[in-house]
Amino acid sequence: MSPAGLYVHFPFCRRACFYCHFYKRAFEPGAASAFLRLVKRELRLRRDPGLRVDSVYFGGGSPSLLEPGQAAALLEAASRSFALDAGAEVTLEANPEDLSPERLRDYRSAGVNRLSVGAQSFQERDLRFLRRGHDAAASVAAVAMARDAGFANVSLDLMIGLPAQTARSMELNFRLIGALRPEHVSVYILENAPLPAGAQPSPERDARLYHLVRRTLAGLGYGHYEVSNFARPGRASRHNLKYWRMEPYVAVGPSAAGFLAGRDYRNMADLGRYGEAVGSGRLPEARSRQLDPAKRRVVTGLRLLEGVPDVALDPFRFRPVPRPAESTTASATRWRSAAEPYSAVASKTIPGRSVR
Ligand code: SF4
Repeated sequence: MSPAGLYVHFPFCRRACFYCHFYKRAFEPGAASAFLRLVKRELRLRRDPGLRVDSVYFGGGSPSLLEPGQAAALLEAASRSFALDAGAEVTLEANPEDLSPERLRDYRSAGVNRLSVGAQSFQERDLRFLRRGHDAAASVAAVAMARDAGFANVSLDLMIGLPAQTARSMELNFRLIGALRPEHVSVYILENAPLPAGAQPSPERDARLYHLVRRTLAGLGYGHYEVSNFARPGRASRHNLKYWRMEPYVAVGPSAAGFLAGRDYRNMADLGRYGEAVGSGRLPEARSRQLDPAKRRVVTGLRLLEGVPDVALDPFRFRPVPRPAESTTASATRWRSAAEPYSAVASKTIPGRSVR
């Protein structure tokens, strides 16, 4: 079996961003400490000393509100429950405003070796729209401080689909990525969020920006390896690849989703119920189901530019979905015009290798 990943959901934020759909609660240091005791219990409940773990991901929520000592204690607890590799990739998601040189040095000493910085944009107008708690200078400083603290693996999150964004306004983002040279860039599209009066969602504009991002990051030396993710050679996220390659991952914390031995589970997205379950020695799962690994491998693997190995399709009689007949006119015309821009990149089969 491939080594597993471990995801830790830290469900606290200083404020709730209007566009965010992750499970989170208002940050309060006492509640966070109590929560960490529960996560350690869940790690004990999921104990499997034979399970090799080679990546840990602190996500949230805002895990940069974790004190470095608390991150160290969680890693220590994880190593008591699983066979945690000494060289594991250990990622912490961070909001720029939470970071300082000292804190970053302490995270590094705690064992965190990859930092994922939620920059979102380097345009102040975009940051004001998102009501972020940082400005562009804080993101630039965060990357510089991370380098000084010894982080050789830094990822930046960017968002597209913001109301005032244009190809021209994206130039500053590209210039700063070129200057800061993060090892990895994740690009997400703003979805299902309220827009300012007069602003309309524009999937066509978002698609144009997405293709602009692909072309520009390729020119800066980033390989596009997953729908939303780009990396310098050898710097794809070891942890996130497990999600798409159907490799095992344990997940702890409220709302966290894991996948082990073909079983897919999701924890309760409610801190109170989560605490009650863990406190009484029960796994805090709201859902658990056995999945057909081959089907899941296809569904998740198609997010990857490497595609799905064609051997993974053996269990299926894989046939392309037939195009609608010419004679169904209106729907066929709509189908063709919608599919046309993607025909060059979709549905390619590379015989003997992969399908993507
Ligand atoms: S800080 Fe991050 S996790 Fe928290 S509400 Fe904002 S976007 Fe969501």
